[in-house]
Amino acid sequence: MTLLKIEDLTIKFKSRKGVVTAVDKLSLELEKGSSIGIVGESGSGKSVTSLAIMGLLQDGNTEISGSINFEDVDLLTLTAEEKRKIRGKSVSMIFQEPMTSLNPLHTCGKQIMEPILIHQKGVSKQEAKKTAIDMLKMVGIPSPEQRFHEYPHQMSGGMRQRIMIAIALVCNTKLLIADEPTTALDVTIQAQILDLMNNLSKGSEMSILMISHDLGVVKEMCEEVIVMYTGQIVEKSPTKFVFEDPLHPYTKGLLNAIPKISSEVERLEAIEGNVPDALNMPNGCHFQSRCKYAMDRCEHETPPLFKQKDGREVRCFLYDGVGRDEDINATN
Ligand code: SF4
Repeated sequence: MTLLKIEDLTIKFKSRKGVVTAVDKLSLELEKGSSIGIVGESGSGKSVTSLAIMGLLQDGNTEISGSINFEDVDLLTLTAEEKRKIRGKSVSMIFQEPMTSLNPLHTCGKQIMEPILIHQKGVSKQEAKKTAIDMLKMVGIPSPEQRFHEYPHQMSGGMRQRIMIAIALVCNTKLLIADEPTTALDVTIQAQILDLMNNLSKGSEMSILMISHDLGVVKEMCEEVIVMYTGQIVEKSPTKFVFEDPLHPYTKGLLNAIPKISSEVERLEAIEGNVPDALNMPNGCHFQSRCKYAMDRCEHETPPLFKQKDGREVRCFLYDGVGRDEDINATN
């Protein structure tokens, strides 16, 4: 059953220098209890998409079109008050650096209690406190009764991220948006936090939208992967196929840039060139200046998403009409 359905989401920011299209006709569908990872470099539009779902983007210089249907209600049509009611209850978000999201002036316990007291009418402070301590236990915080009274600065980065997860999940959220949740953490703590999120989502109906620049994180967590480049989806696929057989030249580049564990020292391949200027996007394919397969038509025509077998989609003329181009794939 579909929980979140985004159709043709387009987000434009207006500035004195011009208009930037941060997200360009993005569509996705997230089932109840399943997970999608959105991967891309800075400026690819992945975080802006998550802020739009949370209803945190509206201002005079932002233009949003398309639809974001959550449980069949278009979030883009809701009032600020209606969005506040959904935020923190049905849809929650955790960010890369919890220190910027946690209130340094309030104890961690108070911050976990807050969404309970706002969203669950009739719950007493004592009951909310008990639930908050249970949540601290659930996310693996040692001595939860004592930690309940501590402030964010008294905790390590990994503990603070656990507190953020506790706040996000305390009202049995239906959709968890995790924006680079482990990027600021040590590798061992990263693994612990990913395990924790995996365990918490298993057996529950919660869906996860994971935003990351790290394909490895998405491989651990998500059933489906969306790769974004300059605001556009360039590849959409069940996770296992992307790692076995990436289609888009950009996805291949991202995967070639991941170090592999082997006994031989290996040279990593960077993706040549730079992301084009957002105020001066080229005609045609946005990836053309970095693509070793670029053809004449890539300069003049904008590639649509071509449907492939196994429910995959790819925005590249190499896959136009003929399905998979095995020769091209065989060279990589
Ligand atoms: Fe490369 Fe052309 Fe495909 Fe763009 S459409 S990724 S330039 S081959």
